[in-house]
Amino acid sequence: MLNRRIAEVLRSGEPDDSLIVQGWVRTKRELKGFAFIEINDGSSLANLQAVINQDLPDYEEIIKKLNTGAAVEVSGVLVASQGKGQRIELKAQAVKVYGEADPETYPLQKKRHSFEFLRTIGHLRSRTNSFGAVFRVRNACSAAIHEFFQQRGFLWVHTPIITANDCEGAGELFSVTSLDLKNIPRTKSEAVDYTQDFFGKPTYLTVSGQLEAEVMAMAFSNVYTFAPTFRAENSNTSRHLAEFWMVEPEMAFCDLDGNMDLAEAFLKHVFKYVLEKCPEDMEFFNQRIDNTVLTTADNIINNQFERLTYTEAVKLLEKADVKFEYPVSWGLDLQSEHERYLAEQLFKKPVIVTDYPAQIKAFYMRVNEDEKTVRAMDILAPKIGEIIGGSQREERLEVLERRILAQGMQPEDLWWYMDLRRYGSVPHAGFGLGFERLVQFMTGMANIRDVIPFPRTPQSAEF
Ligand code: ATP
Ligand code: MG
Ligand code: MG
Ligand code: MG
Repeated sequence: MLNRRIAEVLRSGEPDDSLIVQGWVRTKRELKGFAFIEINDGSSLANLQAVINQDLPDYEEIIKKLNTGAAVEVSGVLVASQGKGQRIELKAQAVKVYGEADPETYPLQKKRHSFEFLRTIGHLRSRTNSFGAVFRVRNACSAAIHEFFQQRGFLWVHTPIITANDCEGAGELFSVTSLDLKNIPRTKSEAVDYTQDFFGKPTYLTVSGQLEAEVMAMAFSNVYTFAPTFRAENSNTSRHLAEFWMVEPEMAFCDLDGNMDLAEAFLKHVFKYVLEKCPEDMEFFNQRIDNTVLTTADNIINNQFERLTYTEAVKLLEKADVKFEYPVSWGLDLQSEHERYLAEQLFKKPVIVTDYPAQIKAFYMRVNEDEKTVRAMDILAPKIGEIIGGSQREERLEVLERRILAQGMQPEDLWWYMDLRRYGSVPHAGFGLGFERLVQFMTGMANIRDVIPFPRTPQSAEF
């Protein structure tokens, strides 16, 4: 007998197919002489219904064990379903219960639980419909990202997690310490010495793989990273995590326009891919989480993003008849409320803002001829705000040196990065996409903690 995944059975199973499915019981309904159980194995939103007849040996005993949450294996034959809502069901010939789940204590009951409550049982929440859908879409986004870059000949490069540089100079770093395991105290009262560093050198968890991706782009032309990054964000917003995944393409022989074109094509590709691979999950988000999810996806795929300069954006914000909490003025960074106003209310689609003031952007961005602005671009999404930050990089050695010094950093500390400008320098560009913000944007999930399996925030790092 064939072992099959439920998604595939529901899609293409035919009456008379013999098969085995394995999964967890969602519900049980006992009727006279038989029982229905709904089984879910994580492969789809929909459950497979199994019918268990009383002529099965040990019927009473098995049914008693098949409570919500129990792990089960059912072998049987598919039959056309008489009931509404499903085309086929599985007529059980043998049922094996692996692990039972005590209905008195199992935390996931039939009713809908709030996301706040489910965050307190992060180890079980993936068994719910919402989180099943989120993590399948997250997986599809990952596959779409690789497909997009691989089709275009980009090399996936692995940049280090432990680094000696603070990419942006933004100062939101976790430092790395080493522990001598033999000397870890066995009792809680003994203090642990956390003060040792990385073999005598200060090192940090990476905030971005960009500088290292630039190294690789200077040999392979087009590369991308897709990896975890870390920021000591002691803020509690619905869009910031202390550990999040970033996608960072870097292209040699590329300017800001090429960078924007790539970013736009990239977002369109990922949305198209997910709609095609996860139609039921996307429909679910549209019905249960946010009823604009499908129109947003359609909007992304079919409309050109708005492009305007920071200077134009500031003028529009100054004219807006909205009372903002934070001031708007040339030279100040845009806050999330400004970003959302532009994307959500004014243009009603993603907006690419370019040419920000040099003083609010990182040292590595290409200085424009006006000497006041840099070739930066942020992509702002409705409901999210900044989803992508990117730029053309400064390829001129002297200008780069000047910028590093102006920001209070030392060019010697980045000697290897300077070498990229000393030997075979070329205009190049890239961007960083916050992967969880993309999943939020795609699914309509309001809180970034609910689109990553194990969120790391000041409040949560239980396991
Ligand atoms: P923000 O202004 O929202 O704090 P940022 O400008 O500090 O973002 P960048 O340094 O430009 O962020 O990082 C690139 C991308 O990474 C951002 O556009 C965003 O999508 C994502 N990102 C940044 N910080 C976080 C975070 N703490 N948690 C999740 N995603 C993040
Ligand atoms: Mg930030
Ligand atoms: Mg920002
Ligand atoms: Mg940014």
